[in-house]
Amino acid sequence: MPDVIVIGGGPGGSAAATLLSRRGYSVVLLEREKFPRHHVGESLLPASMLVLEELGVLREIEREKFPKKYGATMVWGRDDTPWSWYFRETNRTYPHAYQVPND
Ligand SMILES: Cc1cc2nc3c(=O)[nH]c(=O)nc-3n(C[C@H](O)[C@H](O)[C@H](O)COP(=O)(O)OP(=O)(O)OC[C@H]3O[C@@H](n4cnc5c(N)ncnc54)[C@H](O)[C@@H]3O)c2cc1C
Repeated sequence: MPDVIVIGGGPGGSAAATLLSRRGYSVVLLEREKFPRHHVGESLLPASMLVLEELGVLREIEREKFPKKYGATMVWGRDDTPWSWYFRETNRTYPHAYQVPND
């Protein structure tokens, strides 16, 4: 019998299962889909970088040379005036994230 059963191998479940396993727990992860599967979430945010670093995969992701994303521009509703923001305004450690393929 494992210490922990994680249901779902998306970003949340796979990160939790990995970190628990590294801390010495026996973990079983149950996922109903066959991976890799198409799923939204290709546009990372700087907050993701801390998690990727803790998981030990950030250097590998950097080596893949995915396009760096420094901010975003939105257009909303009937107002076609774009509004933009830059990650450096809120995250000095990681002023960029990555745009990655999602399948
Ligand atoms: C329209 C849209 C756009 C988005 N765009 C972005 C983006 O650009 N960038 C970004 O960072 N995030 C984006 N997100 C958010 C991102 O998709 C989620 O934050 C992320 O997928 C959540 O991860 P999770 O592991 O919690 O859940 P999920 O990714 O949903 O993973 C849950 C997993 O559990 C499995 N599962 C569920 N029930 C069972 C069961 N009973 N038994 C076994 N397995 C099960 C599912 O198959 C799935 O693989 C977007 C979300 C939406 C809806």
